[in-house]
Amino acid sequence: MRKEEHMPILFALAAVAIALGITNILLVYNITTEMNQYESIWDVNKSNIHAALDDLEKRYDAIDKKVENVDSKLLELKGMSEVLNDVRYKLVNIHSKDGNASSNSSSNDMLKHMLNHSLEQRLDKGLEGKEEDRGDFKIIYMDNDRYSSVKSMLSRSKMLDAYVNTLNSKFILPHDISIVVDEDGRCKSASGYYEQVMKRIVLCYSSIDNFMRLYPEDIERFSTLVKFLLYHEVAHALIDVYKLPIVGMQEYAADNFAIVMMLNDGDDIHPLIWLYDAMREDKHATTSTTSSRYWDTHMLFVQRYYDILCLAYGSDPSRYDSGDLPSERAYRCVHEYSSALNAWDELLKPWMRVG
Ligand SMILES: [Zn+2]
Repeated sequence: MRKEEHMPILFALAAVAIALGITNILLVYNITTEMNQYESIWDVNKSNIHAALDDLEKRYDAIDKKVENVDSKLLELKGMSEVLNDVRYKLVNIHSKDGNASSNSSSNDMLKHMLNHSLEQRLDKGLEGKEEDRGDFKIIYMDNDRYSSVKSMLSRSKMLDAYVNTLNSKFILPHDISIVVDEDGRCKSASGYYEQVMKRIVLCYSSIDNFMRLYPEDIERFSTLVKFLLYHEVAHALIDVYKLPIVGMQEYAADNFAIVMMLNDGDDIHPLIWLYDAMREDKHATTSTTSSRYWDTHMLFVQRYYDILCLAYGSDPSRYDSGDLPSERAYRCVHEYSSALNAWDELLKPWMRVG
């Protein structure tokens, strides 16, 4: 072959090589630009996600602030309602003082009348429940590993259920009130409590357990202590849901309600008197030590002991001894019991079932 004949082939090969080179360059260019595009899309997305996260965080903060606002508004409302309650109590107090002035002369007759008639008997004779019944006390036993034996004893014996049935047959409620038997942090310093916001009573397993240890063989004495615990908390609940005007410490009223109701039911409350006698501050006190909580809303055990003793003795001097109650107090006890019974009767009348 001649040299001139090679030329076209060489040209063609060169052309193919150049074309291949250009194609490669174009391909690399394409890939790079595409990668750049993806990278910028990713960047945009990343910044979008960050912006969305920032936005969410801001919204969360805003909600947090709103919750804080609602909380402080609630506190304000609570304060206002306390002031209103205060005014209401004062008005009721003034009103009852007006009423008392004219009734003093017949107070002796009234006393005799009241002692001869139990609360239920007087209700049967025509005092009517005026409110609509929309609820019941409902008992709930929570599971608790430590107090599983107390739980099973309570649910087996149906002791609390029986008390709750009695309460439901007596009282008209505007809504359900749950009675939860449980053990929580508050049980460290209380045997039970009433939660106003949730409208529920909590009875502590640990306290019921303590009562069981006091009377392991005596279900009747044990049940008296449980009933007192229940009725004390029920008093707090009724004072709240009925908006009862209570002048003085509510803790005193709650004790008073429980004792008066139990005495009126004919319960033997000696175990309670003994319990408070054992717990009273002056029992083993020395002058150097005092653990008395003078600032507390609860009365001192020693005061509760004398009050319970006085109400019991006042309800039936033949059944209850006045014990170490000094005569200055003992002679007032019949009147103390009957006036307490009368006060509760007046306050609860619209909320009690008839017959
Ligand atoms: Zn209380």
